[in-house]
Amino acid sequence: MPEIYFDSASTTPLDDEVYQTYIDLLQRYFYNADSLYDKGVKVHRLLKKAREEIAKLLKVDPSELIFTSGASEANSLAIKGLCFKKKKGHIISSVMEHASVYNALKQMERVLGIEVTYLQPDLDGMITKEMVKEALREDTFLVSLMSVNNEVGTIYDLEGIKEVLKGRHVLLHVDMTQAIGKIDVDLKGVDMASFSAHKIHGLKGSGLLYRKRHLELEPLISGGQQEYGIRGGTENAITNILLAKTLRKALEKQKERYEHVAALKEYALIKLGKIKGVTVNATKNDIAYILNFSTTLKSEVLLNALNSEGIMVSSRSTCGSRENEPSRVLVALGIDDTRAIRLSFDYFNTQNELDYFMMVLEGILRKYGN
Ligand code: PMP
Repeated sequence: MPEIYFDSASTTPLDDEVYQTYIDLLQRYFYNADSLYDKGVKVHRLLKKAREEIAKLLKVDPSELIFTSGASEANSLAIKGLCFKKKKGHIISSVMEHASVYNALKQMERVLGIEVTYLQPDLDGMITKEMVKEALREDTFLVSLMSVNNEVGTIYDLEGIKEVLKGRHVLLHVDMTQAIGKIDVDLKGVDMASFSAHKIHGLKGSGLLYRKRHLELEPLISGGQQEYGIRGGTENAITNILLAKTLRKALEKQKERYEHVAALKEYALIKLGKIKGVTVNATKNDIAYILNFSTTLKSEVLLNALNSEGIMVSSRSTCGSRENEPSRVLVALGIDDTRAIRLSFDYFNTQNELDYFMMVLEGILRKYGN
């Protein structure tokens, strides 16, 4: 049976070179990056070099980067770390955000009494700059919005939102997890941004928060001097070091991979258009990496039937895959979330895999659909 992976928005296989370097470094440099003997200093130096390389790739200063365990932690640190400083006020976000943003905001409402406006998408699936402008209040201190949606793939108008916030004393946090290595990201005008390594063929448990110099955050993990005192705990040095290679490779290959994936998506859309009972859930400005569609079958039924033919897909954000709650994102778009399936592509996927997928899908729908 073939093994076809159409779930790269959920996570990606590890890059070979990253893996090899990881094994090599892990064995040779287990030392604590803060130890003062030569071996520790060497790890410290490698870590510093990696931070500098990442900073160069993102066109920011090395001191603006905080290594985290992933984008969830980066999102939590950005939102809670700021709320713990501010203690009161108003935040603008949206119902389209990943659970790591949405639930951090919910927690801040509950625990600190911070007020949050959750913007709803328009008919095109967009969160517009006009909506943000309208929602601004005297006491708004943060706007937290994602750049690419992980369930339907919408690319939001980040530049427009930056424009609205220009000259105001409102900080902008952007969850760039599904954007980095896929579309160009520009941190100019952004105060905080979250990234994850495992979405771009890096290690799980590896992420990054960019936070503009002088922006003060309360640590969520108290500890020593690590990560400028903002994130305590012995450095996960080798993992962090590997993020530089992961990011460099993803950015180097971004254009070529995007073209490949765009061709696949175009092909998939043509094929899906010919299958009875399939509706594509497109928004106005979707990334090529994600294709969401609904069928006449319940998502779990279709997902399981595809799984038994060797095809791996998601029915929604994987972080909510075991919850019984409906998908906030799909509901906001007026999509029946019990019948939606997300395909997410990557550079290793092929047209042949899509042909097989379409054949299997058509067969399942013919047999069980109505
Ligand atoms: N934000 C978005 C948009 C995501 O897609 C994800 C991963 N599903 C996350 C945040 C969380 O990333 P991580 O798994 O690195 O915590």
